[in-house]
Amino acid sequence: MLQSLLNGVGSLVVKRSGRLQQARALRDLGLWGLERNSRGHLSIDGADACDLVERFGSPLFVVNESRLVRDVRGVRQAFASAPAGSRILFSYKTNCVPGLLRSIHGLGIGAEVISPYELWLAESLGVPGDDVVYNGVSKSRESLERAARMNVLAVNIDSLDEIDRLLDVATRLGRKLRVGLRLGLRADCQFGLNVAGGAALEAARRIAARPDRFELNCMHFHHVASAWEVGAHRELTRRALDAVRAIRDATGLEAPYLDIGGGFGVPTTRVMTRREYAVYRLFEAPPSPPRPERFMPLGRYLPALFEYVHDYCHDHGLTMPRIIIEPGRAIASRAELLLTAVHAIKDQGQSTPFALTDAGRLSLTYPCDYEYHEILVAGKPEGPLTHRYHLTGRVCTTADWIARNRCLPRLEQGDVLAIMDAGAYFHSCSSNFAFPRPAVVAVRNGRERTLCAAESFEHLTATDSAALAAAARGSGHALRKQAEIRAS
Ligand SMILES: *Cc1c(COP(=O)(O)O)cnc(C)c1O
Repeated sequence: MLQSLLNGVGSLVVKRSGRLQQARALRDLGLWGLERNSRGHLSIDGADACDLVERFGSPLFVVNESRLVRDVRGVRQAFASAPAGSRILFSYKTNCVPGLLRSIHGLGIGAEVISPYELWLAESLGVPGDDVVYNGVSKSRESLERAARMNVLAVNIDSLDEIDRLLDVATRLGRKLRVGLRLGLRADCQFGLNVAGGAALEAARRIAARPDRFELNCMHFHHVASAWEVGAHRELTRRALDAVRAIRDATGLEAPYLDIGGGFGVPTTRVMTRREYAVYRLFEAPPSPPRPERFMPLGRYLPALFEYVHDYCHDHGLTMPRIIIEPGRAIASRAELLLTAVHAIKDQGQSTPFALTDAGRLSLTYPCDYEYHEILVAGKPEGPLTHRYHLTGRVCTTADWIARNRCLPRLEQGDVLAIMDAGAYFHSCSSNFAFPRPAVVAVRNGRERTLCAAESFEHLTATDSAALAAAARGSGHALRKQAEIRAS
C-alpha cells in the first residue's frame, strides 16, 4: 500500500523533473566560454572534445585556460575596491592540481591551505609566506614549524588546544608567529572558535598574553555556501565584526586583516536544497537546473560587502582592515570539465535505461551527489533532450553513479559526455577506487599540454613495501617477484 503510493508519487516527481530539465537545462555554451565547432562538436578553446578523448583517453579532465584567466580577472576586478594591501588567496582544496595552481599564482593570486600537504605544496610552488594563509582543523606540529619558517601571513587558530602547540613551536624556534582566529559564528559551528560560547575571546586573551611569541594578524571566518547573493555573507560579516569589536575592547588587540573566506557561487551550478536532496535520494528525481539570470555577479557582491565593512568600522570606531578573500569555486569551477565515454547502453526493460560510463561518484564525480551539474553530449552539445537515462559509474556497486533520470539527447555506445563545472572539488575529491586517476590536460588556443599524466597501475602500487624495497635495490618488478616467491 505505502509502496505503491510511493511508486505513484515517484513517477510523478520524475516526470515533473523531466519537464523542468527540458525547459531549463543550460544550453548556452557561452556560459562556460565554450563553442560548437564546424563538426557540431563541443569545442574547448579550439580543441574538439571528442578528439581530446581519442588522443588522451577517457575519462579526462580538461582545463580551459582562457576561461580560467577570465574568471581570475573577474574576481580581481570585483575585488578592486578592497583597501590597499588586501589579498586574494586561492583555496587549494578546491582544486589542487599543481599545474593549475602555477597558472593561478602566475596571475597574482596567493594560497589558502588547509593541510600539511597543501602548505608544503604552496612552499614548493614558490608562494611567498606573505601570500599564504594556513587554515584547517588538523595541523601537524611539523607543518606548524614549516608555517613558522615561511612566516605565513596567518596561521588561523581553530581550537584552544591548538594555541599550546603553536606556543611550543614558536618557543622552540625562537620566533614570533603571525596568527589569526577562525571565528565560529553559528551556534553549533564545527569549525573555529565558538564566539557565542566565549572560546574566541579566550583565545584572544591567550594571544594577548604572549606578545613575545604571537602577533594577531587576522580575523577569519568562512561562509560555507555557494552563495548566489550577498545577504547571508553580510550577516556573518556583521557577527564577525561584533566579535572583532568585543575582542578589541577586552584585549586591546585589533588585527590588520579581516579574512572573509570563500563560498562565492557560480551561475552554472548550485547546491541542492535539503528537500531536493531528499527527493533525489527517495524518488531518483533530479533537481532542476540553476537559473543564471538570478545570480548576483561578484562585481556587485564583493563591493557590497566591502561597503558594509567600511560603514561598520566607521560607525564603531574600528580601523578599516585589509581584506582577504579565499575563493575556490569562483575561480576554478567553470574552467574545467570532465569528459567520460559511454561504454554501453542497457535498455533491458527497466523504466529508465542505463548508460554505463567510465566516471562515477565514488571515484570522480562526487560533487554531482549534492550539486546540479550540467551534462552535455560532446558530439551534439545542443541536441534536444529527448531521452532519459541513469548515468552509472565504472565500479561494480550500485552506489557508483553520476546522475539518475537525466534528460539527454539519445545516447549510443562511444558517445562522450562532458560534465560541466568539474573545476571545483572533482579532482581534489577523486579517488583511485579500482581505477587509477585520469589525466588532466589544459587547453589554450587549440593547443594542449598535460598538467598531470594519468596514473599508471605502477603508481598505485608504488608505495607497496616490496615495491619500495625493490626500488631501493634498483631491481625490477617487485610485485611479480613477490608473487614468484610466494608461488615457489
Ligand atoms: C573550502 C574553503 C574555501 C573555498 O570555498 P569555495 O566555496 O570553493 O569558494 C575557502 N576558505 C576555507 C576556509 C575553506 O574551507
